[in-house]
Amino acid sequence: MQNIQNYINGEYSNPIQELWIDNYNPANGEVYSQIPNSQSDDVEAAYTAAKSAFKEWSNTTLEKRSRIMLKISELIEANLDKLAEAESKDNGKPIWLAKAVDIPRASSNFRFFANAITQFASESHESVGQNAINYTLRQPIGIVGCISPWNLPLYLFTWKIAPAIAAGNCVVAKPSEVTPMTAYLLGDICTQAGLPKGVLNIVHGLGGSTGQAIVAHPDIKAISFTGGTVTGAHIAKVAAPMFKKLSLELGGKNPNIIFADCDYDDMLTTTVRSSFANQGQICLCGSRIFVEETIYEKFKADFVERVKNLKVGHPSAADTKVGALVSKPHLEKVMSYIDIAKEEGGNVLCGGNKITVEGYENGYYLEPTVIEVPTDECRVNQEEIFGPVVTIMPFKTEEEVLQMANKVKYGLSSTLWTNNLKRTMRMSNQLHAGIVWVNTWLMRDLRTPFGGVKDSGVGREGGFEALRFFTEPKNVCIKY
Ligand code: NDP
Repeated sequence: MQNIQNYINGEYSNPIQELWIDNYNPANGEVYSQIPNSQSDDVEAAYTAAKSAFKEWSNTTLEKRSRIMLKISELIEANLDKLAEAESKDNGKPIWLAKAVDIPRASSNFRFFANAITQFASESHESVGQNAINYTLRQPIGIVGCISPWNLPLYLFTWKIAPAIAAGNCVVAKPSEVTPMTAYLLGDICTQAGLPKGVLNIVHGLGGSTGQAIVAHPDIKAISFTGGTVTGAHIAKVAAPMFKKLSLELGGKNPNIIFADCDYDDMLTTTVRSSFANQGQICLCGSRIFVEETIYEKFKADFVERVKNLKVGHPSAADTKVGALVSKPHLEKVMSYIDIAKEEGGNVLCGGNKITVEGYENGYYLEPTVIEVPTDECRVNQEEIFGPVVTIMPFKTEEEVLQMANKVKYGLSSTLWTNNLKRTMRMSNQLHAGIVWVNTWLMRDLRTPFGGVKDSGVGREGGFEALRFFTEPKNVCIKY
């Protein structure tokens, strides 16, 4: 049994009260490690370490910060196999996916922000005729809190930490309690890379206690959070009276809109991926598929055939396309939506059942599921399921599909398949989303703003947006 420890002031340590939580391997349902159930005293210790490191780190040259971050990036790459295995074991995702996407992306996050900080410029304004010049400083906030979810554990954890430390802040961070392992391993990598003690502090534990203690800490002045919309709303409520800066990346119920004039084969292949990648547990998955009626029957048959062929299996098997869901409660939640769909008149075209994988009978496996829904207003079409379950339905006109696409409380991303340029422009302008992909999905350029509208969140991550979030602008006006 490998126990996980907190990483505070550059060292691993047990939680002060010696409280622990079981950590499960979703592929076989077994407890394989214990993690700290950190309380507010652990968060306080992390805060104190961060505070004592802040003066020096915020005065460290950009070149030095950048060099250390590049080293972290290199060490993540050098530990690719170990980190990918840990991620897969914790989360249930296929190991090849962790190797090809999650861990390389964590490395890119550090590399990207190591470079971005050296290019991050502030403004100056000459007040013509008044003999004055204004310039704007971009100063680090101080101690910031980063809280991340379980679906893309190291990827999203580092997406917050990298810009935070690049901008000169010190961090108290909490990964999801269900996927703590790679965040734990990151501590050692940071030490090896020469990150000064206290710049990054990682406390493990439950959202309601450890996470809550970070959000409620009066001197942690900014919170960058990725997770569910309900949790995001709670965090906003706790943080508001303290006027904390907040970045909230929340849930999604993203439309995948398919017009008959698209490149069909490309669309079909990508739609299988955008529906079931990472067991459908990506906030950007296109979980509501709308298909122009002239190609609806053909799409339905082709899509279902492809989905039936997706191999569900143990995350370490090379041919596994869909691994295990992250936890038992999550599997139960996802399955409850299949029952809800049936009650609402949905037609399960394929999947819908729990799968037993030989040798791993207690793992959390579910067949990729496609549900034809009678109306866009049913619950499975409105609520975030966050698993390998998608809905499909036909549409007749652009106006109709636009209305259905926008008629949800979320607004994270949208995918559009068409070769009609004018339609692309019209729809991209009108879709309620922070991100619109046209004839592709999940193509990311780290310089671009990332985030959602409506209940999908507040603020943007990525590129200079992230560096703006993690700094306070201060205008200086000098009369000469
Ligand atoms: P949760 O909101 O349950 O948890 C996210 C993180 O917040 C976890 O670390 C959790 O800890 C912690 N947390 C829970 N309660 C509190 C609290 N009261 N105060 C502070 N922290 C708290 O989300 P999930 O982990 O279930 O992740 C899935 C959700 O994340 C989905 O809704 C998905 O759409 C969203 N998401 C959004 C993305 C985006 O960029 N917009 C990207 C990826 C996911 P613990 O694990 O211990 O509960």
